[in-house]
Amino acid sequence: MMEQYIEIKANNPDSLLFYRMGDFYELFFEDAVEASRALGITLTKRGQHLGQEIPMCGVPIHAADDYLQKLISLGFRVAVCEQVEDPAEAKKRGSKSVVKRDVVRLVTPGTLTEEKLLSPSESNYLMALARIRGGSDAQMALAWIDISTGVFRLAETTPLRLLADILRIEPRELIVADTVFHDPDLKATFDILGRVAVPQPGVLFDSATAEGRITRYFNVGTLDGFGTFSRAELAAAAAAVAYVEKTQIAERPPLNPPERESGASTLFIDPATRANLEMTRTLSGDRDGSLLKAIDRTVTGGGARLLAERLMSPLTDPDAINRRLDSVAFLIDEPSLCSDLRAALKHVPDMPRALSRLALDRGGPRDLGAIRQGLSAARHVGEFLSGALLPEELSDALKDLSALPFDVEHLLGETLGDELPLLKRDGGFVRDGSHVELDEVRALRDQSRRVIAGLQLQYAEETGIKSLKIKHNNVLGYFIEVTAGNSGPMTDTPEAKARFIHRQTMANAMRFTTTELADLESRIANAADRALTIELDAFDRMTAAVLEKSEAVKAGARALSIIDVAAGLALLAEEWNYCRPDVDGSRQFCIEGGRHPVVEQALRRQSATAFIANDCDLSPNTDGGFGALWLLTGPNMGGKSTFLRQNALIAILAQMGSFVPARAAQIGVVDRLFSRVGASDDLARGRSTFMVEMVETAAILNQATDHSLVILDEIGRGTATFDGLSIAWAAVEHLHEANRCRGLFATHFHELTALSEKLNRLSNATMRVKEWDGDVIFLHEVGPGAADRSYGIQVAKLAGLPDAVVARARDVLNKLEDADRKNPASQLIDDLPLFQVAVRKEQEKRGPSKVEEALKAINPDDMTPREALDALYALKKQL
Ligand code: ADP
Repeated sequence: MMEQYIEIKANNPDSLLFYRMGDFYELFFEDAVEASRALGITLTKRGQHLGQEIPMCGVPIHAADDYLQKLISLGFRVAVCEQVEDPAEAKKRGSKSVVKRDVVRLVTPGTLTEEKLLSPSESNYLMALARIRGGSDAQMALAWIDISTGVFRLAETTPLRLLADILRIEPRELIVADTVFHDPDLKATFDILGRVAVPQPGVLFDSATAEGRITRYFNVGTLDGFGTFSRAELAAAAAAVAYVEKTQIAERPPLNPPERESGASTLFIDPATRANLEMTRTLSGDRDGSLLKAIDRTVTGGGARLLAERLMSPLTDPDAINRRLDSVAFLIDEPSLCSDLRAALKHVPDMPRALSRLALDRGGPRDLGAIRQGLSAARHVGEFLSGALLPEELSDALKDLSALPFDVEHLLGETLGDELPLLKRDGGFVRDGSHVELDEVRALRDQSRRVIAGLQLQYAEETGIKSLKIKHNNVLGYFIEVTAGNSGPMTDTPEAKARFIHRQTMANAMRFTTTELADLESRIANAADRALTIELDAFDRMTAAVLEKSEAVKAGARALSIIDVAAGLALLAEEWNYCRPDVDGSRQFCIEGGRHPVVEQALRRQSATAFIANDCDLSPNTDGGFGALWLLTGPNMGGKSTFLRQNALIAILAQMGSFVPARAAQIGVVDRLFSRVGASDDLARGRSTFMVEMVETAAILNQATDHSLVILDEIGRGTATFDGLSIAWAAVEHLHEANRCRGLFATHFHELTALSEKLNRLSNATMRVKEWDGDVIFLHEVGPGAADRSYGIQVAKLAGLPDAVVARARDVLNKLEDADRKNPASQLIDDLPLFQVAVRKEQEKRGPSKVEEALKAINPDDMTPREALDALYALKKQL
């Protein structure tokens, strides 16, 4: 047996091996040591290997899911090794033969299907990253699969947005070719992903065989029917499929055909922004306190997953956004329909996951029950919707609901009982009255049980032992039990001895059987066997009927999720008085009475205080139609960060198709959202806070376009005052002159406010405060103008700094301000040329570039088309 173990383990070196022994999975050697430590179970020993005792630990089969869950969450991978032949077969080969075993499945974080191992409200993605060629012309693509629901998507990516794309989708496991994994250029990315990223052999990513692998999986001749894909996309998709095959071994989970997601249609949010805005988790990693948690009113697992997906990938196409908003608006106008729908949706179980388990042959009666219940709930949802004049998205959903296989619901309703066991082998799930023979054998079994109860009375009378009992256990089956002192009447005479056959003597009891009892017992056993065969048969029939309609079931389940999301957002809008944003392709950004969706809810919960609503208008005036920048000053604790974030969150909510916390909102779609808020702590990676700030700022200045929205909080504060001010100054000029994005810029450098005199799309805004007797009262109101001071000392006083320190700080401040007045930084504004002008001057100083010289020398009228083309190539080379 150990030989077999060692061989199998050698093939699965990076997984813990769960080796099936009877009712246990056992682990040996180093695996046992690691698992016992991780699971807190006893480490024992079994036998010897090469003269050493073999460490061992075991987990019982029935509790295996719990242990698997713990191991997977700790980052382990597990290979499950089962007996793959009947022990009787092994015996035939010789008494010492070991039953054949093999790994039937690798359990990894990205390939789970068990209900216990999955979170109902989160997708469980396995993602593959493929790269064709290296260097600057590298093509990259991502493919992600949730085998628990069949979702299969693809997207191209670039080195620049790779991390953003990965974090947007939040895979549980990312597989990458060895060579890519070890590429120094990508090291930072994989470091951030940590254990999620797993290197795999390069062959999995081979683009030459990719198409064949995918067509084989879907059993189609060509991929044409699925759309056209780039080589990198094909390689990623094929790698994901290959990994699914590798981990599922004998089974093929049903996947939807790969669906391409085009990058242009989603709002790009870089990873730092995602984290800083606490979209799905707070900075400390909690789900509570995140935007998702604050807006989630869904009642189904599928709805919760769809909502999270939409939040992570808001759209940029105004029409698509408005289609979603139409659904929400419709349900707000029909509050009673909305609550009927939500009531019906509450009964919707996780159909896609049940379906996937059934298809993988890991399903049980409760999965069939889930499909039955889901179909019936879907029917009710459909009934509520039909007849109404629905907006497009909901009417499409209704179509999918109407196409659900209600004949299957009928079949399941007739065949499946009400109380369902977890495992099919436990039986008892087929409804009484649905199968004639099953009813007969069940009657026989019940009748025999009654006969046995009768026998107990009869034997008690016959022997005069009142306490005689007929009992049952798994070893003896049915037996008669009497206390040791009472056994006389059953053993005293030869007749009695012949009638009551002795089976077992216990410390204070004796056990017997009789031919009648043995006969009844075997009838009951046969009946139970037969009943189970019939039930398993029925199970297979029902499963086949469901799987035959799996496409329709999936589409229906998706429709239910869409309705759940729309109804949840409608309820949210009602609860918190959100408005429908006016979304179009312009560069408007005008929020009236905007609020922070998370802070607003927290304030009401914790202190029943109202959030102060604030306006924000970054819409273009006349100047070229570009959006505006606001420079926001005000004291610490005044509400600057809250204001910055709330406007970014409002844009995200609007573009995911939700109403927004504001009185009115006009939003020209944002193509990219950037933020630089708060000091994210990246010290673990060896970067100082200031370095992180600069890296993030660089990304923004390099990538923001005139359709972007940029939120910058206190740029430049991590360094000496003059350095910081200069960087902040240059960054604002660059955003205004080069990026021309819409933006909010919070700062403590009051000197910057002078810039609004030169930059015509830049306005000053400030958080209002009241001073009262040397203290400061925050009004949390944003108004035009600039703060004249920081109130840092007042805030420090509020925070409880010793009085003596506060007084001394006041002194120092007065001295500094005196000195500053003699040399005001606002004079800078007169001395410094603007960014574009400055850049141009710099270029002039350097003289014309080579390309410019070459261009000057060209006379297009004298050239043939061929020469023109050659010249163009030559010019490009010089860049
Ligand atoms: P700053 O960035 O200026 O230091 P914050 O945005 O962190 O200030 O706000 C400080 C606190 O003030 C927040 O935690 C919040 O509780 C409260 N606050 C901010 N804005 C508002 C508002 N508009 N209405 C009510 N309370 C607010």
